Amino acid sequence: MARLIVLSCGVPTPMPGRWGTAFALQVGQETLLVDCGPAATLKLYQAGLRATDVSRVFFTHLHSDHMADFPCFLMTRFDMSIGGEPPLQVYGPPPTAEFARKLMGPDEGLLWLDVVARTNHVMSIGAYHSRGGAGDRPPPEMQAHDIEPGHVAGGDGWSVSAAEVRHAQPYLTCLGFRFETDDGVIVFSGDTRPCDEVIELARGADLLVMEAVALAGRQWEGSRTAESDTAGCATVAAEAGVKRLLVNHQPPWLAEPQARSQAIKEICQIYDGPVLWGEELLEVEIGSEGA
Ligand SMILES: [Zn+2]
Repeated sequence: MARLIVLSCGVPTPMPGRWGTAFALQVGQETLLVDCGPAATLKLYQAGLRATDVSRVFFTHLHSDHMADFPCFLMTRFDMSIGGEPPLQVYGPPPTAEFARKLMGPDEGLLWLDVVARTNHVMSIGAYHSRGGAGDRPPPEMQAHDIEPGHVAGGDGWSVSAAEVRHAQPYLTCLGFRFETDDGVIVFSGDTRPCDEVIELARGADLLVMEAVALAGRQWEGSRTAESDTAGCATVAAEAGVKRLLVNHQPPWLAEPQARSQAIKEICQIYDGPVLWGEELLEVEIGSEGA
C-alpha cells in the first residue's frame, strides 16, 4: 500500500498550520519527497519520519515555497546519518542540478563548509560515534538531475514521469509528476493554471493533488495565467476522470473555515468524486480503498 503524507500544502505566507508545499510519498521500500517547502524537514519528523528515510527528492519547480527547506533537509539528512543510506537522488527542472551543487557540491557548495567541519572536528566525529557511527565520518553523497518531460525515474514497484505545466514560465520551468505504483497512480499537478498537459498527466489517476489558490472567479490580475481557482482545479479533476482529488496550495484567504466550505462546495459542483482538503500531516492511503 502506498501512502501520501501531506507535510504542508500552503504558499509562501506562513500560517499556523500551513507553510509552503511538501509531500512525502511512501511507495515500495522508499520514501520520496515531492517538493521541500518551508519547515518540510520539521514536518517530516512530526509525521514520524526521518530525513535519512528519504531516498529521493523531486522538485516541481524552484519557487521558494517549494524548495526553501532543502538546505535544512540536506544538512539534517547528513548530520543524522550514521552511514548506510544510498546517495540522495534529486530531480527537478533545470537548473536543479546547479542549485543542488551550489548548496552541497564538494568544495563549491555553500553548505560544504559545515560538511568539512562536521567530518573533521573531534567534537562532531564524537557525536557521530555516539549515535552509532564507526570510523571516519563520511561526507554526504548526492546526485542531482535536471529532468525534462517524459520518464524521470523508477524503483521497485513504481515509476515517475513528468509533464510541463503552465505556471511561472519563462522564468521558471514548472513540472507536474505522475507516479505509477503497484498500488495506484498519484499525480501532483505542481502549480499550474488548468491546461491540457495537466489533464493528460492526471488521466484516470487514483489521486490527484491539485492546486487551488482562490474561490471561483476570484483570482487577482495575472494569476489566471499561472494558477488555478476552485473551478479550474475541479475541472481538471473532472476532465481527467480522477478517482480522488486532494486540494493543495491554499493561501490564507482560502484556509479560513467559511472560505474553505465555499471552496469545497464550488469544487463539488463540477467534480463528483471524493474531495480531500489538504492539511498538514494528513495521510492518504492509496490501494486500500479500492479506488
Ligand atoms: Zn509556484
